[in-house]
Amino acid sequence: MITRRFCSKKYFFLFFLMLFTILNAQKTFTIVLDAGHGGSDYGANRTYDDIGKINEKDVTLSVVLKLGALLEKNKNFKVIYTRKEDVFPSLSERTDLANRSKADLFVSVHCNSSQRPTAYGTETYVQGPDQNKANLEVAKRENDVIFLDEKDKQKFASYDPTSPESLIALKIQQSKYLEASLLMGGFVEDNFVKKDSRFSRGVLQKNLHVLRLNAMPSVLIETGFINHPEESHYLASEKGQNEIAESIFNAIISYRKAVDKKFMAKKPEPEKPAEQPLKNDFRIFLMSNPTKYNVDDPALKGLKYVLVIKDNGLYKYYYSVTNYASIKENNIKTAREAGFKNAYAVGFMPNQVLTTGYYTIEVAVSNEKLSSDSVILKSLDGVERNKENGMFYYTYGNEKTLEDAIKLQKSLEEKGIKNTTIQKVFK
Ligand SMILES: [Zn+2]
Repeated sequence: MITRRFCSKKYFFLFFLMLFTILNAQKTFTIVLDAGHGGSDYGANRTYDDIGKINEKDVTLSVVLKLGALLEKNKNFKVIYTRKEDVFPSLSERTDLANRSKADLFVSVHCNSSQRPTAYGTETYVQGPDQNKANLEVAKRENDVIFLDEKDKQKFASYDPTSPESLIALKIQQSKYLEASLLMGGFVEDNFVKKDSRFSRGVLQKNLHVLRLNAMPSVLIETGFINHPEESHYLASEKGQNEIAESIFNAIISYRKAVDKKFMAKKPEPEKPAEQPLKNDFRIFLMSNPTKYNVDDPALKGLKYVLVIKDNGLYKYYYSVTNYASIKENNIKTAREAGFKNAYAVGFMPNQVLTTGYYTIEVAVSNEKLSSDSVILKSLDGVERNKENGMFYYTYGNEKTLEDAIKLQKSLEEKGIKNTTIQKVFK
């Protein structure tokens, strides 16, 4: 009985060990360790009679090297150091390194100092509340969006990185970084209090360059006050530095577990039945105007994928196209948020053949005749010219469906004939 129970327990344990190994073998967790200051930048410093001069740059390097050694014992952690010796990488060099290496977590280690000699304790900083804009710019520049959540990744994978939809995705991602950074900060401060009996001043938000320009969860840890008589001695001691490194190490372990758990907890969610496509294609009507705006015109308020159809002398602007109801709703929202308050969806029957007319491409509008060696006239056969109110309108092609007209327009674009308009002609 005892033996059997022991055996099954053992196999159970082995099973979990295997599962754990498989799950963890798949993904390396990259951490950038940033020892604050260095080289000619000493950071906070103070001279004491018994221990001499203590420099922030030396304490931070020592703690980071100890922390790195603990992490490197586990093969699933990849550790990148912004510095391993007494040199000074600029703040941008530190954040560039972190962004380039697509790190999962950025940990910057510092020591505090204060005008008040009585100030003491630890504090951990995360991205400030009003630095979202700069951070968003970084995330946009980094382009290759790192999602914390597999579901978001699927949802936004098909979007163009510069589109408004991707901006929404980036904003979601940012708030996740903040959430994750707060989680990590909480673990660090908790360990300082519970394990090392330190005084914690809490997890705080602050606008700091090194946090602002990172496209990943990031914390900056103030490990104690160099100008506080007792705390400085703790910071300078081997024991103190070991305890600080271990507390941060344990916080990283807890953080990683929490993030992994979040990943796995989300998996068994019941699958919603797949959305069925609609019969019609839907485009979002933005406006109709006698003026023709080109792709990058501010009048389009940054929206990409705008289709223009000239109809009865007016240019009609439509945003995006989809045959899924949920995406249609999303597109309406995007258009309205961009500033087209009255945007609405218009149904287009796919491959509908015009019975009372055709589509053509307006390739040029000019107040004078195109010269015979213009690109348009030289590369296209059968361009038609119409004169109306003193303007010359040049059109090309004759297609029965909108889809064919779009194809023709694309082929013209490939020939270098850009900013053309699809025109509906009634007969
Ligand atoms: Zn510092």
